[in-house]
Amino acid sequence: KTFKDLGIVDSLCEACDALGYKYPTPIQRESIPLALQNRDLIALAETGSGKTAAFALPILQSLLEKPQPLFGLVLAPTRELATQIGQAFEALGSLISLRCAVVIGGLDMVSQAIALGKKPHIVVATPGRLLDHLEKTKGFSLRTLKYLVMDEADRLLDMDFGPILEKILKFLPRERRTYLFSATMSSKVESLQRASLKDPLRVQI
Ligand code: AMP
Repeated sequence: KTFKDLGIVDSLCEACDALGYKYPTPIQRESIPLALQNRDLIALAETGSGKTAAFALPILQSLLEKPQPLFGLVLAPTRELATQIGQAFEALGSLISLRCAVVIGGLDMVSQAIALGKKPHIVVATPGRLLDHLEKTKGFSLRTLKYLVMDEADRLLDMDFGPILEKILKFLPRERRTYLFSATMSSKVESLQRASLKDPLRVQI
């Protein structure tokens, strides 16, 4: 099967091609058709499985259908992972003039606030710094957000981001799609799922 067979549009298939993604990986094969049916997903997948494109492609495709600033938010447990996810979005979105901002701890709040003020389509963030901006950065709001991804949810919770995630969720609209990706299931992941996903489909590879 090709990306086109999964329902991905030509401009994004071309971006995959340019990146050397010839065929979808198993997690992409399972997740993408379900995501394109406009469903919440809980996906069990390890790093290295191609999980980033599994959530990025459906979000980018939906963005192409109805372009809007501050369309998607991806939360990741570490600065390194957030940076990598941002790079993946930029590579996959290179043909569709995507604007993406990475918001992580340890870097200057002011320059991040300026980047957010430019209304990127996608924000990739670590939870603590994102909450800082939601609480303090004037004019920054995610009230019109359409997609939330919680990546490596088990690590997010192991790192005690649970209470911060709860606060972030209060800043987001209830009407949205949510994708939860995790390497493992645990009771903490289950309760995050119950608090944030609606009637999700499960994907396991
Ligand atoms: P991830 O699990 O998202 O961190 O991806 C692991 C690596 O696989 C990254 O270097 C991706 O660029 C690469 N990758 C993702 N999807 C594909 C694909 N369909 N074919 C080949 N490589 C891929």
